[in-house]
Amino acid sequence: MLNPAELQIELFCRGLQIAPSCDLLQDARHVARTRAGLGSGLELVIPGDLKDLWLNVPVEEDFVDDTPFVLEKRNGAYLVTDNKDKGAYQVVVPGEPKWYDEETSSGIKMAQIGVLQGTYLGIYVSNSCMYWYGNEPNNCKFCTTGANVGVNEVVEKAIDDVVEVALRAKQESGVTFCHFNTGYQNGRGLEQLAPYVKAIKEKVGLLTGIQCVPVSEKEHWQYDAMLDLGADHFSFCYEFHNPEYFAKYLPGKEATVGQTAFFRSLEYCQGKMPKGACSGEIIAGVEPIEDTLRAIDYITGVGAFPTVCIFRPVIGSDMEDHPSPEYTEMRRVMEYMYRACRQAGIPMGLAPNIEVSLIVNPDDAKYLVPRDLSFKLHQLKMRLLKKLAAVKFRRELRPRKVSGDTAVWKLRRGQEDQHHV
Ligand code: SF4
Repeated sequence: MLNPAELQIELFCRGLQIAPSCDLLQDARHVARTRAGLGSGLELVIPGDLKDLWLNVPVEEDFVDDTPFVLEKRNGAYLVTDNKDKGAYQVVVPGEPKWYDEETSSGIKMAQIGVLQGTYLGIYVSNSCMYWYGNEPNNCKFCTTGANVGVNEVVEKAIDDVVEVALRAKQESGVTFCHFNTGYQNGRGLEQLAPYVKAIKEKVGLLTGIQCVPVSEKEHWQYDAMLDLGADHFSFCYEFHNPEYFAKYLPGKEATVGQTAFFRSLEYCQGKMPKGACSGEIIAGVEPIEDTLRAIDYITGVGAFPTVCIFRPVIGSDMEDHPSPEYTEMRRVMEYMYRACRQAGIPMGLAPNIEVSLIVNPDDAKYLVPRDLSFKLHQLKMRLLKKLAAVKFRRELRPRKVSGDTAVWKLRRGQEDQHHV
């Protein structure tokens, strides 16, 4: 039998067939084919004695035709069966929140404003990324944003709509974290997000995460401005540590900012925030594994949290024919990630109710190591830290006035214009 993390990794790599006994229209969250497309699968939970694991399993991609894993419904409960060895694993299919189909005061379906990815609320504030536009699009090759623009989401989201959805998600789905993403906005992503972050902190009271293409070093003041507005987390998706893979698969990022901008921004932000508050996001299963392990060493070495996606050849992306990664390699990566976090003292699993379904979280990967004395001592340490951190998190989950002002962008840009004159 596989342990929960091994099953999670297998399902990310192989996908899942759906048996006719399943009633997913009734029981499951709809498959949200938004943005890059990595969340384009079925949300599942694998229960475990250390923790329950959330995952978004591929169900539609071509490679799923060869999977041995099948989702079945028996006596009202869901099981994943493994045709290789006839193993059966109990899983939970999380239902769709009621608020998804309801409308905001301005008449927009709430699921078109934000959706749950695992247990957090993901919001793409404007449904576009400049890499997709121009005579020759230079989008990231694994991404399908260009194909999804305007299909599942509203093009520009009003702040009041976002606040309304976040309040419902907090009240009814127990959401504690709102993650904002912009795609590439010609260096204006942080400025675009600023009023949304301020509104969520002041009117809703959630932890907030920011994901934008990084700005240049002389623009790092923008991160300070976001911190003043209450940003709790920055993630930097540089995807590939090997510079050749970075340039080949991320031509827009290579042409506009370059890989080092990701490193400098991650280092700058992490240097100002508690250990593990920032993350470096990478994709495993495309570049050589040794490069992925180097990425994990680098990210944990600067005190940040590694967010490692298992590559998914999403339908409609330029990489849809690229093979899905091998289980044994991905298991090795995830175990390495867990051990690296432990060695670098990166806290795991401290924040309340934040389970990311698109990745194997470092905390999920603890199933991959022996439960020896050092494991047990580390678990104890994390439980104590979680208790201490709970005070801070309780404060952040209450609406509060923030010290920052979104006008700082206008002010700074005005000063820069004057300087140029
Ligand atoms: S930055 Fe890359 S991954 Fe993100 S939306 Fe744009 S093309 Fe897609």
